[in-house]
Amino acid sequence: MKTEMSERLYKKALNLMPGGVNSPVRAFNAVGKKPLFIKNANGSKIYDEDGNEFIDYVLSWGPLILGHAKKEVIEAVKKACEYGLSYGAPTKKETELAEIITSAMPAIETIRLVSSGTEAVMSAVRAARGYTNRDMVLKFTGCYHGHSDGLLVKSGSGLITNAVASSAGVPKGYTDYTLLADYNDKKTVEELFNTYKNKIACVIVEPVAANMGVVPPKNGFIEFLREITKNNGTVLIFDEVITGFRLSLGGACEYFGIKPDMVTLGKIVGGGMPLGAYGGKKEIMDMVSPLGNVYQAGTLSGNPIAVTAGIETLKILINDNNIYKRINQKAEKIENAFKQKKGLTVNRVGSLISAFFNSDYVTDYNSAIQSNTKEYAEYFGYMLENGIYIAPSQFEAMFISDAHTDDDIKKTINFIKSYSSFLERKEAKEL
Ligand SMILES: *Cc1c(COP(=O)(O)O)cnc(C)c1O
Repeated sequence: MKTEMSERLYKKALNLMPGGVNSPVRAFNAVGKKPLFIKNANGSKIYDEDGNEFIDYVLSWGPLILGHAKKEVIEAVKKACEYGLSYGAPTKKETELAEIITSAMPAIETIRLVSSGTEAVMSAVRAARGYTNRDMVLKFTGCYHGHSDGLLVKSGSGLITNAVASSAGVPKGYTDYTLLADYNDKKTVEELFNTYKNKIACVIVEPVAANMGVVPPKNGFIEFLREITKNNGTVLIFDEVITGFRLSLGGACEYFGIKPDMVTLGKIVGGGMPLGAYGGKKEIMDMVSPLGNVYQAGTLSGNPIAVTAGIETLKILINDNNIYKRINQKAEKIENAFKQKKGLTVNRVGSLISAFFNSDYVTDYNSAIQSNTKEYAEYFGYMLENGIYIAPSQFEAMFISDAHTDDDIKKTINFIKSYSSFLERKEAKEL
């Protein structure tokens, strides 16, 4: 594989940007490689500056459920650009997008558009605190909710009351109001609710965890969260930045048949453009300025180009009911290929997949981090060399799009099969 151009560009970027990138995982550090610089993409394929072609399973980390450069989306965006890029005033299209989202997700009665998932979550938590007049936020170890100070909190084992920030530059006081529980563990949640009676403003959860690799909720876990928050006057927030419009049109809410009090969105909702959203019960959203006294604003919020990309993407998802069936079937084929490998455990929910280099089931953060990341790095390198671009980290999901062809899936499965894992090599040697 030729990487001359990428290497040259990386060298230059290193002098100008921290780590040469604008978001850390792009640097390929976790797999001990240098990043590829991407030139263009179309459908299921992504092309780098050296002209290498890859079948893409990163899909910009989730947004591109229809694949790259979907014709209808690009054409609508081009047309929108000719009308001007931003006005800082309301537009008809914002209402159109709001209508589409609230129809797809009944838990969202009213909505506010923002520019990223981080901003959506940060604002939703502020609204929940304003509404309940409480300070504490309960989150789960291994769940990612963007990089705002109070939510950037590391794991630990079991019940931790004093959460520790997993980043430098976050004052201790900023995480004093963050409580941590283990994903899929009802007991720690119950204990925290007992200890902090009437103090917990909200529980925020990824209904399917997808930022420690894909980890599905155990039977009854999400239902339990709905129940305990209801009983304690606590706002339940589903962070659906990944799962929204991914698991179904109505996201995880529809997939599990649960109605949270608030939902945060990002990724697919912007169709590849910078767009996020938060919404929920009208009574809570009415706390947000200018109606209420929870302040939140944005110069580029509801940006007409981003909103256009969102509308066109969601329209296609609405008009073609079979998209979810198709992407799930492709994902199932890939899941089955992984299932036949030794030394792997595979988790799949809909079109989200993770193959962990781990011989145990992965049900939470503690089991996820038992994975052999060295082995993952080797596997990553093997796939890349063979024209398959997967996430450069064990702890990111593999995303399937409607643009992946049967041929792409077949090719991918063949390379999954031909990759021999450490265990398989060991066994072959012993025979
Ligand atoms: C990606 C992600 C975020 C953050 O969104 P950004 O647009 O990267 O700020 C928040 N929550 C979840 C569940 C995510 O996957």
